[in-house]
Amino acid sequence: MMREFESRDGQMMIGGVSAASIAEEFGTPVYVTDEQRVRENYRRIHGAFSRFMDTRIHYACKANTNLAILRILEQEGSGIDAVSIGEVRTCLKAGFTPDRIMYTGVNVSDRELKEVSDLGVMINLDSVSEMERLAKIAPGYPVSFRITPGVGSGHGAKVITGNKGAKFGIPLDEVVGTYARAKDLGFDIKGIHAHIGSGGQSAEPFSEMMEVLIGLADEIAELGIDLDFIDMGGGIGVPYRPQEEEMDVEELASVITDMITEETGIGTLILEPGRYIICDSTVLLTRVNDVKDAGTKKYVGCDAGFNTLIRPAMYDSYHYVALANKFGKACTAKYDVVGPICETGDYLAHDRVLPDPTEGDIVAVYNAGAYGFSMSSNYNSRPLCAEVLVNDGKAELIREAETVEEQWRHQIIPERLRK
Ligand SMILES: *Cc1c(COP(=O)(O)O)cnc(C)c1O
Repeated sequence: MMREFESRDGQMMIGGVSAASIAEEFGTPVYVTDEQRVRENYRRIHGAFSRFMDTRIHYACKANTNLAILRILEQEGSGIDAVSIGEVRTCLKAGFTPDRIMYTGVNVSDRELKEVSDLGVMINLDSVSEMERLAKIAPGYPVSFRITPGVGSGHGAKVITGNKGAKFGIPLDEVVGTYARAKDLGFDIKGIHAHIGSGGQSAEPFSEMMEVLIGLADEIAELGIDLDFIDMGGGIGVPYRPQEEEMDVEELASVITDMITEETGIGTLILEPGRYIICDSTVLLTRVNDVKDAGTKKYVGCDAGFNTLIRPAMYDSYHYVALANKFGKACTAKYDVVGPICETGDYLAHDRVLPDPTEGDIVAVYNAGAYGFSMSSNYNSRPLCAEVLVNDGKAELIREAETVEEQWRHQIIPERLRK
């Protein structure tokens, strides 16, 4: 079931703090993350799998790279799945040692490969081209390979990555040849990896993918290559709708680890959850500036749009919304919750019943922790918003809101155009 929040005197509470008071203190829009929930999510997924076999959780940090959030996961013992040199360096800055980070880039430059290998971070290769280039840059380097399993899963077409013909990974019929070539090149070959996509809600694609990985691992073993790990990627979905069921991770863990222990001699499983760890830890709070009855529709106009949370506009994603300062009150009518961006596609929620929204109310957008802040932009010259961490009844700023001046900082007006 979707995560619910405590109500105290008609106020929504998160981490023991009233949401409306956070909006008041730190301004809006603001992302609010509940530290305990991040820790619980990490422990739940790690616990489910590590009961059965040695398991390393590599948090897919593109979901949210705030340094304070990374510190929490570093304390929990997590590793990192990084997809760019920027993410690698951010995680090093947050205190992760290079051996806890795995780099899985796609279509990356020689320069980036050089930077990552100079830092000593393991590289998960996505193509034959990348392998040949890395062989010249860092001979003998520790690597694994991302393969295209021919199995896809996700909350929408834009986020499915494992299907045949995808831009990601080594095509199935080239995998064994590629491992043979990697051995000839002298690489230190550690593992095999696949990532089917993001936000899938069923377990079957994971076991189908694992079947493919195990079959390949067998063939690779025949080349005399012993793999240390199988990496099943991320993609475990979470419920975004009130009555939606959650994936049974205990069951998933039991099925997947059974397959590995029965059919291979590989001792370590790696998982790369992003959404599962961070999604429901965070709400986006946005203030109602404007309420409009347009005849055929009623609008609640807020200060967060797709510049702040792009998922509804980009993927047609559903996010549950509630009025934080009229929490649990009876609903009066249906509204579209929309933002300040000058495009009709700018919305947060369609056709939601809400309790008589008025100017100044605080809308809480649920499940905003994954691909929320990290995908936000400056569109319409609106500054990136603040992030706040709540824990044990206290709220702390973990990212200041940007200023408009900061948006000018890197721009240059040629002398001849100056005033
Ligand atoms: C994005 C990504 C993930 C995480 O996906 P989630 O759906 O957030 O769990 C894991 N691995 C790789 C390689 C990714 O690109």
